Amino acid sequence: MFQHIIGGDLFVVAGPCSAESEEQLRATCQALMTTGRVHLLRCGAWKPRTRPGGFEGRGEEALRWIAALKRQHPTWLFAVEVATPRHVEMARRHGMDALWIGARTTGNPFLVSELAATLREEPLPVMVKNPMSADAALWAGALERLQQAGITDVAAVHRGFSVPSPLHPEMRNDPVWRIPLELRRIMPQVPLLCDPSHLTGDKEQVATCCQTALNLGFDGLMIESHIHPEEALTDARQQLTPAKLHALLDTLHPRPSHAPTPAELTVLRERLDLIDDELLKLLAQRLNLSRHIAAVKEAHGLCTYQPARWGDKLGKLLPAASALGLEEAFAKDILERLHLESIRVQEQRRSANKSGTPKQ
Ligand code: PEP
Ligand code: MN
Repeated sequence: MFQHIIGGDLFVVAGPCSAESEEQLRATCQALMTTGRVHLLRCGAWKPRTRPGGFEGRGEEALRWIAALKRQHPTWLFAVEVATPRHVEMARRHGMDALWIGARTTGNPFLVSELAATLREEPLPVMVKNPMSADAALWAGALERLQQAGITDVAAVHRGFSVPSPLHPEMRNDPVWRIPLELRRIMPQVPLLCDPSHLTGDKEQVATCCQTALNLGFDGLMIESHIHPEEALTDARQQLTPAKLHALLDTLHPRPSHAPTPAELTVLRERLDLIDDELLKLLAQRLNLSRHIAAVKEAHGLCTYQPARWGDKLGKLLPAASALGLEEAFAKDILERLHLESIRVQEQRRSANKSGTPKQ
């Protein structure tokens, strides 16, 4: 199912967050399939909820509704989330076409191994959402566990991370785009989808997020859609009606992955490369200075970390960064990272001096 979507037409997975009733599921799927733009229908049968007592999905009953819809419409393809080997067995028994592993499960290697073992005999296509933490290796590890069990028809789904989001306070999850890009670098053959619904948590932001994903070379989208979003039992704020989803897809600009590089871009990239070379040299110079500073602090018995000095510096540098047109959160991130590296280098130098190790 997912093997040929890299470099092809935009692959669209859509459907309600949860299968709530047979009628809601039927009406939503019918409207979505009428758009002619949806390749795979999604819905949750078991819902992972933060606190107990809420709506936890219709379970196997939802799978029976799907099986009935598939009897009426044999070309419709369905995916459900599985979190336990029992879910996999039920999904198989009711004829699901694909599965996905949710964010809360991907981060648990024991569980992923059990799911892979359950799928080994009769593999089904599997989408793997990123884990809750911004960890590309953990995400890749879940895909590898499936692949090693012979489940080769896999795709990755980026749904953002549960980390404090200083750069994107408006979103439900932090996109940390470098993580899916890192996954693409380590697993270039695995198709990459974006789930803008869980990422943003807000139907108004879904379109922008979809376009960002396309600009970054994603192969497909998984979008939540409900026939009456305002009545949805889960994730009501982020679900689009099928009609809105159709209109949104029409506004997106696909980005071909193998377009020739225009000369203008080459020139700009050369300038960018020169700036990067300069930045690296400046960073090396700055860290060399930190090593000298370490020697002076050591000679005078001073602490490596000087909070007052750092507070003063940030107080001056952040407004200066804003005046240069830099985002304050970005500037703070970079400056703090630089400061931490400076402290690390100073500590390294001080402990090397003490233990008599030759100076670097
Ligand atoms: C979902 O897709 O409905 C879901 C629960 O997603 P996630 O695992 O990304 O939170
Ligand atoms: Mn949801």
